Amino acid sequence: MQINLKGMGIAVLGGDARSLVILEELAASGAAVNAAGLPADILPAGVNYFSEPEACLGSVSAVILPVPGVNDKGQLYCPMTLKPLAFTRELAACFPPGIPIFTGVAGPYLAKLAAVSGLRLIELMKLNEVAILNSIPTAEGAVQMAMEMLPITIHGSRAFVLGFGRTGATLARLLGVMGARTMVAARRPEYLARITELNLTPVPFARLSHYLGEADVIFNTVPVPVLTGEVLDKVPPGTLIIDLASAPGGVDFQRAASIGVKAVPAPGLPGKVAPKTAGRILAKVIIGLLYEETAGN
Ligand code: NAP
Repeated sequence: MQINLKGMGIAVLGGDARSLVILEELAASGAAVNAAGLPADILPAGVNYFSEPEACLGSVSAVILPVPGVNDKGQLYCPMTLKPLAFTRELAACFPPGIPIFTGVAGPYLAKLAAVSGLRLIELMKLNEVAILNSIPTAEGAVQMAMEMLPITIHGSRAFVLGFGRTGATLARLLGVMGARTMVAARRPEYLARITELNLTPVPFARLSHYLGEADVIFNTVPVPVLTGEVLDKVPPGTLIIDLASAPGGVDFQRAASIGVKAVPAPGLPGKVAPKTAGRILAKVIIGLLYEETAGN
């Protein structure tokens, strides 16, 4: 069922191909949609283009920022425009008070500015319903990278997934059904039990280093430094490491290079490998949350 947001003013500032899908879905739901920080000539039909973000915020009931939000220099993520868009305190002051401001994950700059300016930030990637669905294009993208970088098939390869959260679980299951001999490192006993139930090989996290020599490819999903100097010394040269954890990631890349281990960061895979799916996931959740807001009024 298509949710009706008829008449609701919404501004989308910056973003990538995912934002275009969000704009399209918002317009289809009947919302009055304004956009800035995106090229005018590729905006979906019915979306109002603004060259300056301040001008499109007047009477909106929500603002949608890009998934990567704002960098530590205060620039909004706008890879499709030539001019970076500054997210300043002055811009924040133009937001109607109390409205929801959606982003993926707020970095330190945006979190601080939001606190100082009283913005109501909603971090979509912290919502399970987004993170679990988002793990599908993430896992597919990670496997795609491994297929491109390994000289062997995934089927029959020895894969090791570190972490069994939303991303790790989806990736481990995908590798398993593709025929990889998949080990998964987790801390919680119930996760180790679930890994066993999935017919994958559970590895208690504390014993991680004993198994690192038995993998052709290691996927890290743990968002803290786990493959650091000493631990990396247990990884044989020639092993591929794909680090999915967000910055600063979980791998000491310099050390890996120095011991002949190929380690690559893999940030933002959904937006790269499946922007349409990733945009639809976000649009569905945003539209649902906006509908709940209006229903509550
Ligand atoms: P999650 O559901 O919170 O899972 C994180 C996993 O890491 C859990 O299994 C957790 O175990 C484990 N963990 C955390 N701290 C640990 C530690 N000190 N030692 C051992 N294990 C630890 O997170 P997620 O949604 O899967 O996301 C994981 C990472 O991937 C995040 O950094 C996220 O931003 C990133 N991500 C990247 C992409 C991409 O395209 N590259 C896409 C989506 C997400 P416990 O349950 O025991 O705490």
